[in-house]
This record gives sequence, C-alpha cells and structure tokens, in this order.
Amino acid sequence: MVGTGLCRDPAFSGTWPTGTTPSCRSVSIRRTISSPGHDLSDIYSPERRSKLMSRVRATDTTPEIVVRRALHRMAYRFRLHSEHLPGRPDIVLPRHTTVIFVHGCFWHGHTCAKGRRPKSNQTFWDAKLDRNVERDREAYAQLAASGWEVGVIWECETKDADALQSRLSSMLGGAR
Ligand SMILES: [Zn+2]
Repeated sequence: MVGTGLCRDPAFSGTWPTGTTPSCRSVSIRRTISSPGHDLSDIYSPERRSKLMSRVRATDTTPEIVVRRALHRMAYRFRLHSEHLPGRPDIVLPRHTTVIFVHGCFWHGHTCAKGRRPKSNQTFWDAKLDRNVERDREAYAQLAASGWEVGVIWECETKDADALQSRLSSMLGGAR
C-alpha cells in the first residue's frame, strides 16, 4: 500500500477500515518516471529501481487507469486532470463536452458494499465522507452549469471490462 502513513488525517487516530486505502497516490514517483530524458537505470540502484517499479505497477491497476485504458482502446480522445475545471475531473473529453470522475466507492460514498461506512469512529467518518460527497455535488453542479456532461465511474464498475465498456459507450455515445 502506498503512503498509508503519510495520508492519515491528523485528526484521526484509529485504523483504516478493512478494504480501504487512503486516497493518495505516488504522483511524484509517476512524474519522475514518465518525464522524458530520465533513465531510471542511471539514477537508481537495481534494488531501488525494482522497488520503484513495483510501486508503478501497483499504481497502474488503479481504477482511473483502467478507465483510461478502456477509453483508449475505444479510440476516444481525452485529457487528464483538468486543473481549471471544478473538482478537477479525472478525465476530460472536450469533443464530447464530457468530464468523467473515477471515484473510489468508500471515499465518495457509493451505495455499494464497498461504500459502507465504518461502524467505529462514526462521527469522524461521517464528517469526513459527508464533506467529500458534498464537494462532489458542488463540482457536478458547477460543471453542469458551464455546459459539461458529468459522468461518474465507480471503482466497483471497473472490475468487469465488458460492463465498463458499455457504461462508457452509453455515457459518450457512438461518435469518437
Ligand atoms: Zn461501488
């Protein structure tokens, strides 16, 4: 698990519920690896490199990357993480005036089994997760007000490739 310790909310002293991970990613590591002109074999020892690469593989299985790959396979053109749009949507498809959020079921309050809230530390979790859901709603409303179609793909919808593909198709229509 990447960065568990680092992502803890200072106000929270309990343990993470089973099956959840903090919503942070090793962005700096990915950036380092993907920046052109960097040859990892030159700057890291084999041990260090293999450790880094295993973290990259772990990152590559995130729901967001599963969705990106599916869109790519389906030949949709998209951009990533638009800093300028409300809520920083994960994927932006300008031609379809559509943005897609890829949400973790736990952190964004999906109504599936994974979205169930922990029984302990209820006050803490309710406050934290309610805030996330509220922020999401505000972002959707602002995006819709500026003419964007807003789609949400839940983490649990990324496990079945065929189902994911039809979800994306119906979200985006036939045209590429
Ligand atoms: Zn879910």
